[in-house]
Amino acid sequence: MIENSVLELVIGDITDEKTDAIVNAANSQLAGGGGVDGAIHRAAGPSIMQQTRQKYPEGCPTGEAVITEAGRLKAKYIIHTVGPVWRGGREDEDVYLRAAYRNSLELAVEYRCQSVAFPAISTGVYGYPLDLASEVALSEIRQFLNEQSDPFLVQCVLFNEGIFGAYSRVLEQWMS
Ligand code: ADP
Repeated sequence: MIENSVLELVIGDITDEKTDAIVNAANSQLAGGGGVDGAIHRAAGPSIMQQTRQKYPEGCPTGEAVITEAGRLKAKYIIHTVGPVWRGGREDEDVYLRAAYRNSLELAVEYRCQSVAFPAISTGVYGYPLDLASEVALSEIRQFLNEQSDPFLVQCVLFNEGIFGAYSRVLEQWMS
């Protein structure tokens, strides 16, 4: 609990979430792909790609976020954000990853969402080291929740035990 906001870590598949918005770890062309991006498009249906093509033909730069409806998913919206590709930590990857979380959360507020689910952005194909990515993700989410006056739920939906473990270790460190 952070004020009247809640941060939850769960192991699961983000396409099953019932939060107002789920976040997609997209690529900058918004072209769909493997990983969580592919899973979200498959589950939500082709209307999502139609919307991204129509509303965002230029794609989405790294660190920014755009929004569509959620098609067949239980969520109302999909927020598509683009995390950085890990290049050894010399190219401000942390700044871009932080921005991806922050811009997604701000877009959610703009669309009056009160709950958002995130995957572990950039930790798959984009190769961001899990221990570093989880620290960035949780610290940016915490900062955001601290600034909220209205109730807000953020769920980190982590695809396996390993990712869940990395996130849990960050929270344990904060509490020790
Ligand atoms: P990126 O290109 O940003 O690295 P990936 O989709 O390759 O994106 O991986 C991001 C994270 O999403 C990884 O930790 C991966 O294990 C996780 N992931 C893959 N599929 C799902 C899913 N259906 N739900 C939640 N997380 C998922």
